[in-house]
Amino acid sequence: MDFERLEALLANDPTLSALVASGTAQAPLLELAARVAKETQPLLEQIAEPATGAPERLALTAAVLDGAAALARLAERDVEAQRIRLGVVAPTLACARGCAACCHLRVEISPLEAERLAPVVRALGLEGAVRARAETVGGLSRSERVHARIPCALLDAEGACSVHAVRPLACRAANSLDRRACERAVNVGDGLLTIPVDPVPLGLARASALGVEFASAALGRETAPSELHVGVARALTRPH
Ligand code: SF4
Repeated sequence: MDFERLEALLANDPTLSALVASGTAQAPLLELAARVAKETQPLLEQIAEPATGAPERLALTAAVLDGAAALARLAERDVEAQRIRLGVVAPTLACARGCAACCHLRVEISPLEAERLAPVVRALGLEGAVRARAETVGGLSRSERVHARIPCALLDAEGACSVHAVRPLACRAANSLDRRACERAVNVGDGLLTIPVDPVPLGLARASALGVEFASAALGRETAPSELHVGVARALTRPH
């Protein structure tokens, strides 16, 4: 594996470079990304085989993404154990079911995540809602989306994610230590930068996503992210 290229990918990522600049250790992020890339590559190779049928491709895609999320969780547990050993008090997350402030933000997903979400969205009967939302928010920048105060089409009436078990890595990464700061950011349409976060889950989920991206790029797969609704709407147009 080309560690220098992987290191460069991490260093150029705005989220990770900001975390490292503010004191988060880079080594665990790099280790996780490398492990995800290594374990993901054989599955991606199978997906690329011409003989692999659509159902098998979908199962392999799920295995790639679930594996990446599981490795991020394992790495997070290691950091938690280390915090306990060192007597460092872990920050308390303010995130809870029913608070959906972060589901009003622009979320970007990988082509694999779009492929994985499309059949789930179809099964939930949310194709029309996702396509309509793609038209409304697809072209909005991060700051325009905050000001628009438009929720994700996958948010249900109770303020919970209807695809929680298969939500994108960006959604898994989002966290906050201050619910009021999130609500303020969405209600006032500003102040995103002032939301305090736990850098551990945020950084590890992002590193895990970059591990998948790195392995995908090495196999010549499309890796450019899309706005969530746009990516899923596009994946919905493909034959299933
Ligand atoms: S996919 Fe789920 S968690 Fe992510 S923004 Fe949409 S509703 Fe929120």
